[in-house]
Amino acid sequence: MLKSEYLQKVYTQVVTRDPDQKEFHQAVLEVLESIDLIIDKHPEYEKNGVIESFVEPDRMICFRVPWVDDNGKVQVNRGYRIQFNSAIGPYKGGLRFHPTVNLSVMKFLGFEQILKNSLTGLPMGGAKGGSDFDPHGKSDAEVMRFCQSMMTELYRHIGQFTDAPAGDIGVGAREVGYLFGQYRRIRDRYEGGVMTGKGLTFGGSLARTEATGYGVCYLTEEMLKCMRNDSFRNKKVIVSGSGNVAIFAAEKATQLGGTVIAMSDSNGYIHDPAGIKLDVLKDIKLRRRARISEYAKEVPGSTYAEGFRNIWSLPCDICLPCATQNEIDGPTAEMIVKNGASVVTEGANMPCRPEAIRIFQDAGLLLAPSKAANAGGVAVSGLEMSQNSMRYSWTFEEVDNKLKEIMVNIFHNIYNAAEECGVPGDLVVGANIAGFKKVVDAMLAQGLV
Ligand code: NDP
Repeated sequence: MLKSEYLQKVYTQVVTRDPDQKEFHQAVLEVLESIDLIIDKHPEYEKNGVIESFVEPDRMICFRVPWVDDNGKVQVNRGYRIQFNSAIGPYKGGLRFHPTVNLSVMKFLGFEQILKNSLTGLPMGGAKGGSDFDPHGKSDAEVMRFCQSMMTELYRHIGQFTDAPAGDIGVGAREVGYLFGQYRRIRDRYEGGVMTGKGLTFGGSLARTEATGYGVCYLTEEMLKCMRNDSFRNKKVIVSGSGNVAIFAAEKATQLGGTVIAMSDSNGYIHDPAGIKLDVLKDIKLRRRARISEYAKEVPGSTYAEGFRNIWSLPCDICLPCATQNEIDGPTAEMIVKNGASVVTEGANMPCRPEAIRIFQDAGLLLAPSKAANAGGVAVSGLEMSQNSMRYSWTFEEVDNKLKEIMVNIFHNIYNAAEECGVPGDLVVGANIAGFKKVVDAMLAQGLV
C-alpha cells in the first residue's frame, strides 16, 4: 500500500486497466514506492497528471511477423515496439527474441529503460521491443528471414532521431546485422545511428559487446570501495546466465581479482571451484552456440547440475544475476543470505523479486539495482551513436574509459539521491529517484504531460 493517495490511485488504475500485466505492475510499484518518499514536496506532479503520463507509454506497436522456415512452411510470430517516453532524447532500448515475450514483459522493460537511460547522463528516451520468436535451434538462414520480416514492419517506426533499437536476450551481433541490413536495404541509405550493437565493419563501437557486463563490475567495484572499503579481490563470485551480459561480467570480475565459481543457462549450472575458464566458455556459448553442460565434459574438476536456480545454493561473496527477470525469489534470497554473500548486483533486468530485495536489504547486503548496474550497455550504445554521427571511431580503451567514468558517476548519483531522500544506502530508491527527476523535469519543461 502506498502512503500517497494519489500514487495509490494511479497504481490501482494501472492494475485495473491491464490486470494480466504482472511484470509491468511489479516494475511500476517499485518506482512508485520510491516516489512515495518525495511526493509531498511536489504537488505539481498531481496537478499536472505527471505520474499518470509517466506510467502510460507514448505509443505501443504490435504486429505480425511471418517468415518461411527451412521446410518451406510459413511461421507467424508477434512483434512489438513500446515507445515509452522520449522527453530527454530519441527512444532507445533493445529488442528481445524469446518465447516468453509478451506485452507485459515489453512494457516493464520499456518502463525501466526510461530511468536507466536517464541515469547514463546521455540524451536517450526509453523503449523496448522484440518478439516471441525463439532463435534456439533455428538455422542462420531462418534467423535471417525472421529478422528481415521483422524489420519490414519495424523500419517505418524507427530512425536515428526517433527510435534506435539494440540487442537484448536472443538478439546479438548476428541478429543486429540482419536487422540493420534490411533497414539499410529498405531505406536505401546508411543511417548508422538507427541501431546499435552493430558489427565493427559497419559502424559498431569497440567495447559495445563487453559494455553491459564490464559496467556491472565497474559499478560493483565502486560500490564496494565507497560503502565497504573493499573490492572484488579474492572474492568468490557467482554469475547466473551465460549470455552477453554474464560472460563479460565474469570476465571483468576475474580481471578485478575475483574468482567466478559458477555460471548457468536456462537448463542448469556449472561449478568450477578453480574459477571458470572463460576461453572455454566463450567457445561453447558464443562460437558453437551449445549448452553450458559441455563445459563440465571439457574441463576437469568442474561439474554440471540441472536446474538453473540451484546455482544460488553454492556459497559465494558476490552474486551477479545476469540471466533474466524474477530469477531470485524469497526462498532463494534467504539461501543466499544464509550462505554468507555480502553483495548482489543485478546484471539482468529485474532479476530479484520484490520480496528478495527486501530480504537482502534487511540482512544488510549491498544491493545495486539493474536500472543503474546494467546501464553500461545502453551508455555505450549512446557512444556508438555519437561515433556514427561523427563518422569516427574511438579505440577500445577510449570507450572503456568513458564507460568506467559513466558507471562511477551513476553510482555516486544514486548513492547521493538515496541520502537526499533520507534512506542512505538504499540504492533502489536512489536509482528510481535520480532517474525519474530528470525525465519529469524535462516533461514539465516541454509541456509534455
Ligand atoms: P543473452 O540472450 O545473451 O543471454 C541470456 C542468458 O540468460 C542465457 O544464458 C540464457 O540461457 C539465460 N536465460 C534467458 N532466459 C531465461 C529464462 N527464462 N530462464 C533461465 N535462463 C534464461 O541475453 P543478454 O545477456 O543480452 O541479457 C541478459 C539480461 O541482461 C536480460 O535481463 C537483459 O534484459 C539484460 N540486459 C542486457 C543488455 C545487453 O546489452 N545485452 C543491456 C542491459 C540489460 P539459454 O542460453 O539457455 O537461453
